[in-house]
Amino acid sequence: MRPAPWVTVYRKLTRFAISLFLLLFSAQMVTSTANAQAAKVLGARLGVYPDYTRFVIDLDRDVDFTYFLLPDPYRIIIDMPEIDWSAPPGKVTSGGGLISGLRYGLFKPGTFRVVLDVAEPSLVSKIFALPASGGKPNRLVVDLKPAKRQAFLDASRDSMAAYSARSRNDTSATEQSVDVGVKSGRGGEEKPLIAIDAGHGGVDPGAIGVGNVYEKDLTLAAARQLADTLTASGRYRVLLTRDKDVFLKLRQRVEIARKNGADLFISLHADSIANPKHRGGSVYTLSENASDKEAAALASKENKADVIAGIDLSDENSLVQSILIDLAQRETMNLSATLAANMVSQLSQSIELQRRTHRFAGFAVLKAPDIPSALFEMGYLSNATDTKLLQSPAHRKKIAEAVLRAIDIYFEKHKF
Ligand SMILES: [Zn+2]
Repeated sequence: MRPAPWVTVYRKLTRFAISLFLLLFSAQMVTSTANAQAAKVLGARLGVYPDYTRFVIDLDRDVDFTYFLLPDPYRIIIDMPEIDWSAPPGKVTSGGGLISGLRYGLFKPGTFRVVLDVAEPSLVSKIFALPASGGKPNRLVVDLKPAKRQAFLDASRDSMAAYSARSRNDTSATEQSVDVGVKSGRGGEEKPLIAIDAGHGGVDPGAIGVGNVYEKDLTLAAARQLADTLTASGRYRVLLTRDKDVFLKLRQRVEIARKNGADLFISLHADSIANPKHRGGSVYTLSENASDKEAAALASKENKADVIAGIDLSDENSLVQSILIDLAQRETMNLSATLAANMVSQLSQSIELQRRTHRFAGFAVLKAPDIPSALFEMGYLSNATDTKLLQSPAHRKKIAEAVLRAIDIYFEKHKF
């Protein structure tokens, strides 16, 4: 059914007004280029002593660093210029002494982030870079000692203030600059633009599955396959929110889609659950109240991506709220439901889905006020069969073809 002309005009006007609004309030994007001569990590080590824990990264050259502390959960966050950490981290990831876990990855172009989880409040008693000497490489050394919660909170506040001041002075790498190219099909200005969002990335691995498979890697592989399938159809242009292993904030993903004028937004994920037998995909859309407890729990888990990676203190936090957006969101929610229903009907013909599969939940990544959006949990990484399937290019192709059929049906019904 074709929408009444005023609906189309309304949508266009709303879109224009929101764009203008965001343009006025959004921070200036600064482009930064990756350092061609990135320092290389040679290894990482932990030393556990009676009154302190030492964390050491071995590097092939000197690197600059900054750090800050974040509570709830307690974390030490160390940022440095882009480095190459392809060396296996060894036993360090599972922690020791005061450190309960280690995560690292690209936080944004130009910034590599290392996150040390600490089970109890711990202060950085020393942090320093050591030059190569006596056959030993360059080292970054961090010493942690236990502290009271209040002391941690005070240190956190001070460290964040210092970090922010430093970020403001650093003009080379302030706001994020995400390199996204819109792939244009032949003669394609009028073709709908589909934003494909590979969940997680960089410092945020997402769910970790059977055989140490990372959700962030499977979502990227599935996103690339979907992009290829949609482009090959000749009917769509595609936009990947990320095309490499980089962390993106949930809001950034939405902004990328909006800035490029995407017509649909599809976010790809894979879940993990205590029961290893549980399997199958599920499609979600946004609602103000999650429709069931399980969906709500999943949304809060996915929304934690930003917490996992720490925060971006150089961000001016121009969170936008307005009546305008609220109005647009109502209509978008209905269109999202149509998209999700199409996805369920097509995907169920190709792969295993759960029984009650179209669910509503408060996913932050689906909150574009004017882009119909759906989130697809492709399966469970806690299940061996699902994990194996999601690692198979043939299975990801099946998913992509089903999503293409769903999008075709969507645009047959809604010719905007
Ligand atoms: Zn996820």
